[in-house]
Amino acid sequence: SRSRIFHSLRPNVPLPPPAQPLSIIDYALSLLPAAATTTETFALIDAATDRHLSYSLFIRQVKSLASSLQSLTPLSKGHVALILTPTSLYVPVLYFALLSLGVTIAPANPLSSPSEVTHLVRLAKPTIAFATSTAATKIPSLKFGTVLIDSPLFLSMLDANADSHSRASRVELSQSETAAILFSSGTTGRVKGVLLTHRNLIAVIGGFYHLRSIALSEADEAEPHPVSLFTLPLFHVFGFFMLVRSMAVGETLVLMQRFDFEGMLKAVERYKIAVMPVSPPLVVALAKSELVNKYDLRSLRIIGCGGAPLGKQVADDFKAKFTHVEIAQGYGLTESAGGAARTLGPDEFKRHGSVGRLSENMEAKIVDPVTGEALPPNQKGELWIRGPSIMKGYVGDEKATDETLDSEGWLKTGDLCYFDSDGFLYIVDRLKELIKYKAYQVPPAELEHILLTNPHVADAAVVPYPDEEAGQIPMAFVVRKPGSNISADQIMEFVAKQVSPYKKIRRVSFVNSIPKSPAGKILRRELVDYAQSIGSSK
Ligand code: AMP
Repeated sequence: SRSRIFHSLRPNVPLPPPAQPLSIIDYALSLLPAAATTTETFALIDAATDRHLSYSLFIRQVKSLASSLQSLTPLSKGHVALILTPTSLYVPVLYFALLSLGVTIAPANPLSSPSEVTHLVRLAKPTIAFATSTAATKIPSLKFGTVLIDSPLFLSMLDANADSHSRASRVELSQSETAAILFSSGTTGRVKGVLLTHRNLIAVIGGFYHLRSIALSEADEAEPHPVSLFTLPLFHVFGFFMLVRSMAVGETLVLMQRFDFEGMLKAVERYKIAVMPVSPPLVVALAKSELVNKYDLRSLRIIGCGGAPLGKQVADDFKAKFTHVEIAQGYGLTESAGGAARTLGPDEFKRHGSVGRLSENMEAKIVDPVTGEALPPNQKGELWIRGPSIMKGYVGDEKATDETLDSEGWLKTGDLCYFDSDGFLYIVDRLKELIKYKAYQVPPAELEHILLTNPHVADAAVVPYPDEEAGQIPMAFVVRKPGSNISADQIMEFVAKQVSPYKKIRRVSFVNSIPKSPAGKILRRELVDYAQSIGSSK
């Protein structure tokens, strides 16, 4: 019923009229404070090499790359570009250039296995790829080939001084066009391609931009260009929108290509990092580690945590140790362009355990999974959300789209949640299949499919198993074929060879049968409960 819709309690955020032609890039750059370009503020710093780009050089490189791509490749508006590269200074330049041309970016984990990449290519149908030479070997042949971003050709395309490609011709884009295809398994099954429009991203970035003064303390206001440290992967929605957000507000971004904990502490000290978007395992590590005492971390002011559950106790422990640092929690999905709820401002930051209040311009319902009834505050049900940042759908998959988005535009999140009477959202459990290993998505169906290709395996199911460091690890229940005595290690190795490292199975239990519903659906909840009951015996 109508009254059971939760509305955002945030001030109204003005967004550009939806009919106005506008790309996320033009929008982000229109917000960028003029001072960022006139004072030679650094836009990007590579922590590994100390190389840096000022905002003005960054913008020139983006324009130069866009015009080079226009003249040297047949790329045009509507094409899809697969991007397979670890974090580097080139990644933001590439994203901005492609998006400004109306090319849809499809960034993916560079550690994906060849068969995973083939699946992504089948989904997103890219005409071109941009990849490091190492990652490029995994990409099947595409219409316009693969551009190696560690090649002299690519570097020459960035060269803002070469006059041959100084100006890209303007591409007019409507906000409803697809900006990015990000990969997510959603509530069930294999990885799918999430279609995010320019409008989706404008809505998220606009919210962060217009509400930033609420989040800031007076100390922040005094510092126009805080430095932020990115250890998040830029192919995941969290890293992706945080990147665009940071650049829209004129922060200096320090990028780390490869995450290592002590390297991160060194970077905080060296670059006087104030802002750090992280996933929960990092908060756990910071709260526990003795190493932190070796470094001067006094510059840190705010940690933005999202992507997976952050336990209340962990947040409390962190805060007790780092009294000068605020934890801003955020909750979102790839399917909502990252935006859905967050804590905003010093009072809300204290609400450890909650993921905050519904984001600007969003609505929500808490739906009873059995009756379909919309529930009042303090009752648990599936969270449904609606608003301008909700995806257009899954690329080429009407069935999955229809199952996830209803006819009124509600996105079914697959998360079991409730709102308290003050509008704070609590994530209680995950109803969907998804496993999150260190905030990375692990779709069980994909691993089950691989397990079933093993000649020793009669049946298999994969479920999350709780883990203090990673949040969850993928655990397999395996039914051996009669006569087989394949070991747990052999099972794990068999899967590890075929998947990205974070998708590895890290625990195996042999069983006589997999519990299933009469319709043949794996009864995952039973397995999850059973896994907990058998405890630590491996
Ligand atoms: P992804 O599409 O990879 O961002 O995954 C989205 C899912 O991650 C959500 O549906 C939740 O299950 C989980 N998630 C994201 N942020 C949080 C959070 N702050 N607390 C609990 N779960 C979260």
